[in-house]
Amino acid sequence: MEEPIHVIGHKNPDTDSICSAIGYAFLRNALGDAEVRPARAGNLNSETRHVLERFSLPEPDLLTSATGQRLILVDHNEVAQALDDIRHGTVLEVWEHHRIGDLQIPSPITFHCEPVGATATLIAEQFFLNDIKPPPAIAGALLAAILSDTLALASPTTSNKDRRMAPKLAALAGVDVSEFGAELMAARGDIATRSARDLIEADFKAFNFSGHRVGIGQVEVPDARPLAQRRAELLAAMDEVRAEQHLRLVLLIGTDISRRGSHLWVVGEDRDLVAQAFHTTLSDEGAFLEGCMSRKKQIVPVLETAFAAVKTAAA
Ligand code: MN
Ligand code: MN
Repeated sequence: MEEPIHVIGHKNPDTDSICSAIGYAFLRNALGDAEVRPARAGNLNSETRHVLERFSLPEPDLLTSATGQRLILVDHNEVAQALDDIRHGTVLEVWEHHRIGDLQIPSPITFHCEPVGATATLIAEQFFLNDIKPPPAIAGALLAAILSDTLALASPTTSNKDRRMAPKLAALAGVDVSEFGAELMAARGDIATRSARDLIEADFKAFNFSGHRVGIGQVEVPDARPLAQRRAELLAAMDEVRAEQHLRLVLLIGTDISRRGSHLWVVGEDRDLVAQAFHTTLSDEGAFLEGCMSRKKQIVPVLETAFAAVKTAAA
């Protein structure tokens, strides 16, 4: 048999990275490409583990190196979020819903990027366009990814396509959208019992902003008060992560779903730059950003612009 083609999401994988990989590999298999397999670039978080157990889906293969591998990327296209040696792999396709990143690919490829709430929405759409009905477990996994990324269709990143795909998948999976959304939120675990490192790293991404390496973690919870109470401990753990990963700056976004806003905590250099960029002041308590729910839409573009301006001023 030929060497497999792995479908893989970003490091510190979330439910969208894992379930989009599983879903897309299943679709390609159904279309006759037997060598396509799902993979993961790290350990599963508690929510994703719950989803795979619930639908009796096997954990994808762990891939720690891209060298010599043929890969289909889902849910990322930035070097800082991909396997460390991604430049030594062959990227055949990308399925994405983030900003266009910095991955240079020498040959023409399928690069499908749309501003929808989850990569899984695009994968689900491919099933329907190809007249392949996802079995209940695959439909359930894709739905879980959409609900996870869009905070059960409440995030400002939610698109009409997400809203169309979710009920179709729910019917196939035999679940109720709102009940299943609440079940996933509960599976993220109790803030009080998770370690500070887990809270920061469960959904942590590194970015390259005009040559500055910045890490941004996000925790999305119905009520962020228990998170804010652990601020001192979180800041200390953020400093550890910053040192280990040689990052200039580490941000933690503590999203309070019911208040529809996020706490912002920052360690490292450029704290003033961050405060200015968000038109706020950063005390030891951090800041609360009203209406801010999305890292991708409301945090990353602001920092990208702020760091680009620094570069221009210095040039
Ligand atoms: Mn993701
Ligand atoms: Mn995603």
